[in-house]
Amino acid sequence: MISLNTAVKFHGHLGPWLVLGLLMGEYGIKKIKAAKYFGLSIEVSGLHSKPRSCMIDGLQLSTGCTMGKGNIKILKSKVIFANFINAKNGKKIRVSLKNEIFNKINFTDGHSACETLAKKLYKNKPDNLFVATE
Ligand SMILES: [Zn+2]
Repeated sequence: MISLNTAVKFHGHLGPWLVLGLLMGEYGIKKIKAAKYFGLSIEVSGLHSKPRSCMIDGLQLSTGCTMGKGNIKILKSKVIFANFINAKNGKKIRVSLKNEIFNKINFTDGHSACETLAKKLYKNKPDNLFVATE
């Protein structure tokens, strides 16, 4: 599990979207039983603008899929999800955010409230945050 400190050192600040990226990455990797870095590729959608796009950094950190290696692809769609594809056997799942989590973030305003929410989200069980579909 990537620590919040490590994530902030890479990304520059602590926010809910960064944390969701971290957790979603770990969740997705487990679901398709893939190895980090080279064992999978991901496609992310709905993260075209800040602060949502902060999630992309969290996903890169937790999956090892990076822009540099080319195994993360940004899809142009308004719906927020990430596809996880196992490079060995092609197994694919789609992970989406639960609506209540999306709403919670949208109704959180201000720097310190966002940091508090980020820390709270980090302690959540992934099943409370995400939905996986085949
Ligand atoms: Zn950010």
